Amino acid sequence: MSESEIVHMRVPPPQPKKTVFTEAMEIFHRAADLIGLDKRVRLELEEPDYEHIFYVSTKLKDRLVPIPAEEAAKFSDLPVTQVRDAAGLEMLADGKIILNGRALLGSDVAIRRGHLRLPNGNVYQLVPGESARFKAYRVQHNQARGPYKGGIRYHREVSLDLFKALAAEMTWKTAIAEVPFGGGKGGIQIDPRQYGREEMQAITLRFMYRLKALIGTNIDIPAPDVGTNGEIMALMYRQYSDGERERHNMRGIVTGKDTRIGGSEGRVKATGQGLVYCVEDYFAEKGESLRGKSFILQGFGDVGSNAAEILTSMGARLLAVNDADGTIYNGDGIDVPALLKYVYENPANLKKSVLGFQGAQKIEKKDLWEVQADMLVPAALGGEITGEIAEKLKVKLIAEGANGPTSPEADRVLQRRGIDMIPDIIANAGGVTVSYYEWIQNKRMEAWSEADVNQKLELAMKRNYRIIRDISKNAGRRTDLHDSRRFTVGKEVGSREAAMVLALKRIEAHYLLEGFSQ
Ligand code: NAD
Repeated sequence: MSESEIVHMRVPPPQPKKTVFTEAMEIFHRAADLIGLDKRVRLELEEPDYEHIFYVSTKLKDRLVPIPAEEAAKFSDLPVTQVRDAAGLEMLADGKIILNGRALLGSDVAIRRGHLRLPNGNVYQLVPGESARFKAYRVQHNQARGPYKGGIRYHREVSLDLFKALAAEMTWKTAIAEVPFGGGKGGIQIDPRQYGREEMQAITLRFMYRLKALIGTNIDIPAPDVGTNGEIMALMYRQYSDGERERHNMRGIVTGKDTRIGGSEGRVKATGQGLVYCVEDYFAEKGESLRGKSFILQGFGDVGSNAAEILTSMGARLLAVNDADGTIYNGDGIDVPALLKYVYENPANLKKSVLGFQGAQKIEKKDLWEVQADMLVPAALGGEITGEIAEKLKVKLIAEGANGPTSPEADRVLQRRGIDMIPDIIANAGGVTVSYYEWIQNKRMEAWSEADVNQKLELAMKRNYRIIRDISKNAGRRTDLHDSRRFTVGKEVGSREAAMVLALKRIEAHYLLEGFSQ
């Protein structure tokens, strides 16, 4: 054995570090192998086109920070400061209070060593507003099929790696939904619940001020995601278009807007609605309906709450919900309209949490996974269903509302245990599908009815979901609604592989037919 051979044997090849992105790409590689994806197309898709990192700074407002009871005792003789304008006091989820406008009037404020007492009797430390800086991202993964498209996430736990994974997912999802977009994702590393409304507005405006150089109505089109909503989209639209001569042509710069300013009817519910169309079709194929089916849910935000509302309106029963603050359970079925009221119409519910809802009992998060039900709808964050949790689940079907909620290890466990899966890239594609409808309506200066939107959405979801099921069963066929013959791979594959095959074949066609620019 020569010396170089010995060295070669001793040094194992470096293993790439496992990250959220590399994990998310495992399925890409499996599907690429299955279809023998063109080598150069594979290189194009393996990494994003662009990874932008930038910073956003703002001046924060003064805050009143609650102090521990033992410290408050030192201020027993501190007189009460009268509040001039109660609307100017903005209570945050962490108990701190933001001072807006003229909530407290200078001459009336009794401050001792930086502390004051509010009429509620509590003593607070007055912390003057400082400037703060936040890290922001926009990953543009691929635009072979159309402009980059994907949400804006405001969350404490984001990273370039996570946004790369989410942007790639958008590339697959837009291809599966058959909308003429590519994939992108971005946002800010921030916990929005720790900042006031006006602070979040200022941060959003500054974010768009920097983002403007990178996006455009036919280049990259953001939308809401975790921690953002139609209000944030409205601000982004204004900041992008302010002062522009043809600003009304720019409405399509973001989707997920309020219907009064160019948003589409049905957009807010679209992701939950799209998920329900898939679930309905899944049961219909077995000759069953949603009536009497039970489900458990993680996340009661845009996706989770709408999916729950629609599923229960069709006769399904919600047994348990978990959100960022806790978990509730009712074996007889949770009254979803009442829960919606409790979470979204109750100003005292500052965290907008399901916790404390009277019509259910509190359970531990770990117990959620062991509730027996027909299906589980994860609609919170990624990576929640681990291999260990997958072993415990007592459901027959998982419909992924969230992006990437199931780890690759969990996927293997679920397949072994025969638990069916409607993977995220089809199950939650309703949002981007109606975003596309919104974008068309903006281009045409039209407004479609909710019935029109839902009719189109239903056909799109069911058509593409059926193609995926046919690929999975290796049963290419042509019906009135769909044609899956082009996509099967010659053997049966899991539903996640099948979805990925559909995405890759649709993307690859663009490269193969259009060729590469040099
Ligand atoms: P949202 O911010 O409206 O709601 C998120 C929900 O998840 C809240 O109920 C929150 O309490 C809960 N949550 C957050 N952290 C949690 C934790 N650690 N444990 C348990 N629950 C937690 O967000 P959304 O728009 O409903 O999005 C939810 C998921 O769906 C995300 O993965 C998102 O990427 C995906 N998604 C959203 C859309 C859309 O149109 N909104 C489209 C496609 C995919």
